[in-house]
Amino acid sequence: MTPQANTLTREERSTSKSEARTLQNFIGGSWVPANTSSTLDVTNPANGEVIARVPLSSRADVDAAVAAASATWPDWRSRAIGERTEYIYSLREQFRRRLDEIADSITREGGKVTSDARAEVTRAIEVLEVACSTPMTMQGRVLEGVARGINTETIRQSVGVCAAITPFNFPAMVPMWFLPFAIVCGNTFILKPSEQVPLTSELICHILQDIGLPPGVVNLVHGAHDAVNGILDNPGIRAVSFVGSVNTAKYIYRRASENGKRVQALGGAKNYMIVMPDAVVDKTVSNVLGSAFGNAGQRCMAGSVLVTVGLAREKIMGRLKSEAEKVMAGDGHDPKASLGPVISSTSCDRIHDAIESGIKEGAELLVDGRHPKNVPEGGNFVGPTILNNVKPGMRVAVDEIFGPVLSVMHVNTLDEAIDLVNRDPRGNGTSIFTENGAAVREYSRRIEVGMVGVNVGVAASPAYFPFSGWKDSFFGDLHVHGWDAVEFFTRKKTVTSRYFSAGETGKFFTEQGDKK
Ligand code: NAD
Repeated sequence: MTPQANTLTREERSTSKSEARTLQNFIGGSWVPANTSSTLDVTNPANGEVIARVPLSSRADVDAAVAAASATWPDWRSRAIGERTEYIYSLREQFRRRLDEIADSITREGGKVTSDARAEVTRAIEVLEVACSTPMTMQGRVLEGVARGINTETIRQSVGVCAAITPFNFPAMVPMWFLPFAIVCGNTFILKPSEQVPLTSELICHILQDIGLPPGVVNLVHGAHDAVNGILDNPGIRAVSFVGSVNTAKYIYRRASENGKRVQALGGAKNYMIVMPDAVVDKTVSNVLGSAFGNAGQRCMAGSVLVTVGLAREKIMGRLKSEAEKVMAGDGHDPKASLGPVISSTSCDRIHDAIESGIKEGAELLVDGRHPKNVPEGGNFVGPTILNNVKPGMRVAVDEIFGPVLSVMHVNTLDEAIDLVNRDPRGNGTSIFTENGAAVREYSRRIEVGMVGVNVGVAASPAYFPFSGWKDSFFGDLHVHGWDAVEFFTRKKTVTSRYFSAGETGKFFTEQGDKK
């Protein structure tokens, strides 16, 4: 298929409610309408404005994307790795140049305050930079002389058509966890972004067109369950990457692996922050609040439970309350706001319910964010909220609230804190705040969590390390980015070889002019 020119201007991509356009899929280098009449409104969470309509693509749309990606794979995988890497360099360059535009798209459809949106794009750029080192990280190994005159080498080859299904809360960064590694390793790729934030993925595909990525290497299919099931069941897709909530992650892992696919499925979280009595109070409080309320608490690495150990309670609670009360909710584009809206009115209602349940079950509402002041009409705003004296088993201690709500629990010893964290079925991230090296060592050693921070709030690993939780926060083997990425997106093949003209005979030429 001939790629269609990228003719939409930024203004045309941003429509008003009355003329909200229906998005198209990007298949084989062309923008094509989805094979469905079902659409969902995409709204700006800060004011409820309908900014686009996203099609709920059918299996037929997925099949078309798989056909395009499959047809492109033989040529794409045969290109020199340097050539494939060049596209990642260009993509990285475009992300740097268009950082404001991408951040603006994230804020508009996802609500993030501009500083959080820019930080997200910066993290995406970091992943792109790591993917540029693939010509080194994709190298195989050779062992000379496994038998007389025989060598064995391991080479890494692409897997085929790979797909990623992504969540709403990081519309630029999470697709970049997969897309650059998949394609630089020689695979072709299908992205099914969250139906709640499809516009940033659309923008990314326009950027891919702008850099001249060959048609069919990356394909975009909008939609929800039908599109996902189409991906999970299509035999042409060899590997599936998923990021989202625990139950969906379990479902994706089971169905895709039953269908013989390689799967990595990252799920939801409940992340605990442990504060020891010797923690540095002001720094700890600012890190804790940043973790709890950054991105309105809609992060898989959000610090959603604070656990004070012993005297830490007396030292920290006063300052925690006074600093939390200063956090200002507002439109993500408003430079005064540090807390944006949550993604939807449904989320807003769910978070309000969770707060009410905490109060009913006996928690103390230390900071009340139920009715934030001076926020735009029609937006999904919840202000910073702290529930104190939360006990295990309360709904707010069990559910992933995914909003700006911090639950505070108090224990007497580090052992109790460790038990509390390890009893949770999830294990994505955790932090400990202390200057005591022995406590840090004990905590890091015994805690059943994939990513541990020491005196840092969100301990998300940098792109050059693998990223993933444990237990119900992750289903699969190979983590995201870092050295695991190339492992996930390649298959190992061993080649064992000998040449009769050399090793066995000791001769290099068999014809006239033989050399001994
Ligand atoms: P979600 O599970 O509702 O949706 C994620 C994706 O799965 C979307 O593309 C959606 O269309 C699809 N989907 C949802 N339900 C489905 C179903 N029943 N069948 C088929 N497809 C389905 O998650 P979300 O609300 O978009 O994102 C928030 C969740 O993601 C939180 O739980 C958060 O912790 C988690 N998350 C985890 C990580 C991590 O690294 N572990 C990172 C970001 C977000």
